[in-house]
Amino acid sequence: MKFSHDADVFVPDGSALDNALQRTTHLCIAAHQDDIEIFAWHGIKQCMTAKDKWFTGVVVTDGAGSPRTHEYKDYTNEEMMEVRHEEQRTAASIGKYSAMIQLLHPSSNVKSGDKCVVDDLEEILNLTQPSTVYLHNPADKHDTHVAVLLRCIEALRRIPLSQRPQLVLGCEVWRSLDWVIDDQKYVLPLEGAEKVASSILGVFDSQISGGKRYDLATAGRRIANATFFQSHDTDDQTAITFALNLTPLIEDDNMSITDFTENFINSFCNDVKDRLDRFKGDL
Ligand SMILES: [Zn+2]
Repeated sequence: MKFSHDADVFVPDGSALDNALQRTTHLCIAAHQDDIEIFAWHGIKQCMTAKDKWFTGVVVTDGAGSPRTHEYKDYTNEEMMEVRHEEQRTAASIGKYSAMIQLLHPSSNVKSGDKCVVDDLEEILNLTQPSTVYLHNPADKHDTHVAVLLRCIEALRRIPLSQRPQLVLGCEVWRSLDWVIDDQKYVLPLEGAEKVASSILGVFDSQISGGKRYDLATAGRRIANATFFQSHDTDDQTAITFALNLTPLIEDDNMSITDFTENFINSFCNDVKDRLDRFKGDL
């Protein structure tokens, strides 16, 4: 297999790459190093201990231009990129991934709609044929996250209908999905393996040392999601990631992703308005 850049490909257990891709059941395609571990822990955790499930991670961009502070302040951009690639490989080892592919596309190419990005993703989807796919969600506020998601939908729509995944989820990173009405939330329960959850986020020292405590923020969001999910019940889950079920977008190639996303926003809008109307009295 040949990708458009000199991709960083890593198989933690040393299996042949073909085999590592073929056995994949759960695939995550993310924009940056550490995004996978923030939003697809649900898939990593399931596959880590199951004999018949394998998780493969794909990072689309090269990790260039990340902030360099404290102990990393003297690193060149190239050195910093290598640190980030190494951190991503370490996370793949901790999470016992089947394979970890870093495609190294410049973020600008992803945003401009470069077809090489879509070609690479199509190739990976064809070789892995996963049942479940974790992606960014269309209401994320990070441009590159949304651009990567759009390239992923393009690639998924190139796959023959009968070979497409059964479930495609759009998960939260830059913007929580707490605002989605409960009926439309896709809930990913994360109970258990808390120590691994924390160590797999902790390996991204180059980001955390810059003062962004993504490790604590991610753990905090998961706990907050569980606690604030249903006000009348005690927490039967102590940690949750919320997602949007994006599967309808790959069941109907003509469905507009803008209309699809707007539907969630309209439901939220109606929910807020209805509650105000019910209790506003004479206001
Ligand atoms: Zn990111």
